[in-house]
Amino acid sequence: MKALHLYSALDIHRHFLEGDVSAREIALYFLRRALRENGKLGAFLHICQDLLLQQADTLDRARANKEPLGPLAAVPVAIKDNTHIHNEPTTAGSKILATYRAPFDATVCRDLREAGVLFLGKTNLDEFAMGSSNENSAFFPARNPWRLSHVPGGSSGGSAVAVSSRLCPLATGSDTGGSVRQPAGFSGIVGYKPTYGRVSRHGLIAFGSSLDQIGPLASSVEEVAKVMEIIGHPCPFDATSRSTPKESYPLSRERRSFKVGVDASFFSDLSQDVQDNLDQARRTLERVGAKVLPVDLKPLHYGAAVYCILATAEASTNLARFDGIRYGHRSLSAQTLEEIYSLSRQEGFGQEVKKRILLGTYVLSAGFQEAYYRKAQKVRTLICQTFTKAFQQVDLILFPTTPSSAFKLGAIQDSLQMYLQDIFTIPANLAGLPAISIPSGFSSDHLPLGIQLMAPQGCDVKLIQLAYLYEQERGPFPMAPYLDDPSL
Ligand code: GLN
Repeated sequence: MKALHLYSALDIHRHFLEGDVSAREIALYFLRRALRENGKLGAFLHICQDLLLQQADTLDRARANKEPLGPLAAVPVAIKDNTHIHNEPTTAGSKILATYRAPFDATVCRDLREAGVLFLGKTNLDEFAMGSSNENSAFFPARNPWRLSHVPGGSSGGSAVAVSSRLCPLATGSDTGGSVRQPAGFSGIVGYKPTYGRVSRHGLIAFGSSLDQIGPLASSVEEVAKVMEIIGHPCPFDATSRSTPKESYPLSRERRSFKVGVDASFFSDLSQDVQDNLDQARRTLERVGAKVLPVDLKPLHYGAAVYCILATAEASTNLARFDGIRYGHRSLSAQTLEEIYSLSRQEGFGQEVKKRILLGTYVLSAGFQEAYYRKAQKVRTLICQTFTKAFQQVDLILFPTTPSSAFKLGAIQDSLQMYLQDIFTIPANLAGLPAISIPSGFSSDHLPLGIQLMAPQGCDVKLIQLAYLYEQERGPFPMAPYLDDPSL
């Protein structure tokens, strides 16, 4: 079989089952491609070469012996490098964890391992998942295969690049304020943030624990649905895991009648590209049975401000464990205990992480907690109530994924501008809602744009089914032009 990178995850799996290709051939094909292309793309921080080949040989033996094979057997998968694969590095994109190796599998990785995937590598990210462009990686930036001078979005930028440049068909990311959906939008692929607690966070390095959720990135809704069938279940190691048992995600092209809410107050200062793209998506949704209704979501305008307070507060608490003693880097110049703490952090953390720890500590400090942290919690409750009210009238809410298409590396220097990248994605994290970004069109400079659909908590299956309907009606979405390079 040739050009395996052009096959979907499900096709690779099927060809493996049918004996058209061995797991070793698949592993070697994707391994060679990743080793050859990663220098240009910066998708991987680490390639799990030994593990990959070992898994492939185990699968080939199992197939030869007619042993049962998992639902994703022989599918190469990339894992964001803030999620543990046992015995492989987990750096979280930070120097402070540069030499750290994971002591166990994250629940998600255990699930995928049991499903028979081949772990190809650990993907690049903004340090501790803090960023929207992958430029905050302590190692090197990832690049958008649609235009290598542009960012792929972040923080799961490496995962988005791995999938959009077809270094592998599936990847996982983590989404605290948009980090799966925004890079998916910038890279022309599907990114899914499940309902908070639907997927276990055990083995994910915590950023904002009340917001974090692991989710899949893939080229199609069908592949995302398949991954959700495997990773969406209760987990005894995650106290916030939902008790709803595993669900299946049957997909159908049959037209359905459903209501989609839009709040026009968000769209007054959209760029023409994003506005046109949204209008087009709206018409596509109407063709498959949607009735579009106005909803009032005004409190969501405070989402980014609330997020800045809550995510940094939670990060400052979560990152306190990186003290030079328990994990990772310890300063060699430290003479005293105090210096171990301060110098290890000073040397190990990057600028953005330090800034957020400081801000988070400030909003939690005795004198300011009431004014900032508690106030933000109140507004968060108001945002949740606003969604609850809106979902009494509609099944889904439609937003753009991002306020613009991908930007050039280095183009956004201002922190506030960077934080505003997530204005449309943050509300779903604040309210724990499932939300999906699906490629929907192009900007006038020919870069992909995505639309985002959100549903009430727990309605993951319905959301994915309707997203599938939209995707089928939209028709095939092109692959990144990078793949047209004949040398590939
Ligand atoms: N871009 C947002 C931030 O910088 C969201 C990150 C995320 O979802 N992990 O915090």
